[in-house]
Amino acid sequence: MKLKSIQIAGFKSFANKTNIDFQNGFTGIVGPNGSGKSNVIEAVRWALGEQSAKSLRGKKMKDVIFSGSKDQHPLNRAEVSLIFDNTSHFLESDYSEVKVTRKYYRSGESIYSINDHECLLRDIHNLFMDTGLGEGSLSIISQGNVDDILDDDVQKRRTIIETAAGVYHYKKQKNESEKKLEDTQLNLDRISDIIREIE
Ligand code: ATP
Repeated sequence: MKLKSIQIAGFKSFANKTNIDFQNGFTGIVGPNGSGKSNVIEAVRWALGEQSAKSLRGKKMKDVIFSGSKDQHPLNRAEVSLIFDNTSHFLESDYSEVKVTRKYYRSGESIYSINDHECLLRDIHNLFMDTGLGEGSLSIISQGNVDDILDDDVQKRRTIIETAAGVYHYKKQKNESEKKLEDTQLNLDRISDIIREIE
């Protein structure tokens, strides 16, 4: 699976339709401060279903829509498509090219689609689950994440390392199971008390 291109329109500083094609090998995006480099990465995370406006450096989700400049009026819609080469069928799809699109309107309406067929956010999550690009994936490391890794907070750093090692998921499941065991033990104790009272 390879990200072939990104199509952005009306997202943050990208008012006009912009195509970014990725060639083989390493790609760097360079530009002056405030020219929109981080916005490109945020467009990728957003199209993959990011739900937190805060993690996209906004207050509300509407903040991702182009808010106007001295030359251009604000827009009513943000749209981002990611086009993946799927000839290896790494993504569970019959298509050899998979296009994932997210649209968002000022009215609050949100539309997701896969290869131009409307779908649910859950379908997008399912498509990328366990591919390294899903929810909470560390394939995309933002500036904030780097701060977290360097942070003095040992617990935060441990969580990041455990997530990368694939351990965190199991640890969460273990904690949930321990909580269930605890609840069951409490119920058993209560039943024992009742039985003792009856006897
Ligand atoms: P740096 O090198 O300083 O990290 P950068 O190249 O990564 O900068 P970004 O942070 O991606 O730049 O882009 C910031 C620009 O995006 C700012 O000029 C900001 O005004 C603009 N911007 C953010 N949201 C919107 C929006 N909704 N509408 C229009 N412009 C926006």
